[in-house]
Amino acid sequence: MNTEQAHADIARLVTGNFRVNTYLVSCRKTGEGVVIDPGGEPDRILAAIHSAGLTIKYILNTHGHADHRLANHDLREALKVPVCLHEDDDEFFARPEIRKISAKELGLSVRDRADVRLRDGDLLQVGELEFAIIHTPGHSPGSVCFLTAGNLFTGDTLFVGDVGRSDLTGGSFATLLQSIKERIITLPPETVVHPGHDYGETPTSTLAWELRENPYITDFILAS
Ligand SMILES: [Zn+2]
Ligand SMILES: [Zn+2]
Repeated sequence: MNTEQAHADIARLVTGNFRVNTYLVSCRKTGEGVVIDPGGEPDRILAAIHSAGLTIKYILNTHGHADHRLANHDLREALKVPVCLHEDDDEFFARPEIRKISAKELGLSVRDRADVRLRDGDLLQVGELEFAIIHTPGHSPGSVCFLTAGNLFTGDTLFVGDVGRSDLTGGSFATLLQSIKERIITLPPETVVHPGHDYGETPTSTLAWELRENPYITDFILAS
């Protein structure tokens, strides 16, 4: 399927106390879609899905932090679709000692495991859309970005004008910068960035804008 011609409809809901950007991304032609990072308020997310008339195929998590996964369980029950997470975060955050540290850091925890364990290079077909899985460790070991039809969902790896924290358990600043350098800014500059939180001046940006304005990219990546 040619993703250049497929068109993605994107709706953003800010959910939960951590104000996570939850995205509904769907194929304009077929109405099939995914939920990315349901950060709480499952009833609100379900209402948005129903009022848009979408058929959800997957629940996608950009990474294993509990704030991005709070509504996984309720949505999985209601929609009967699999939760997908990179295999490294599925492993890491299932370890009892890590779960404890992470719960302390974030002030919350979830107990779910992935139904589908994602790997770098995987492709998920959703209507005419294809979602490419790009492994971008650094914020967490199994952080990923989802790329579809020129849109990049970056979770807590890249924000508008900023990057994610690397001081939480499993994080690494060097690895985060390497992921952004090798896997993100190598994508076409017109790619639209949809971050996991609205921390910037605008809710979205483009890679071209980030290459000019994001100090982590200009000062740490391009300058080195
Ligand atoms: Zn996070
Ligand atoms: Zn987050």
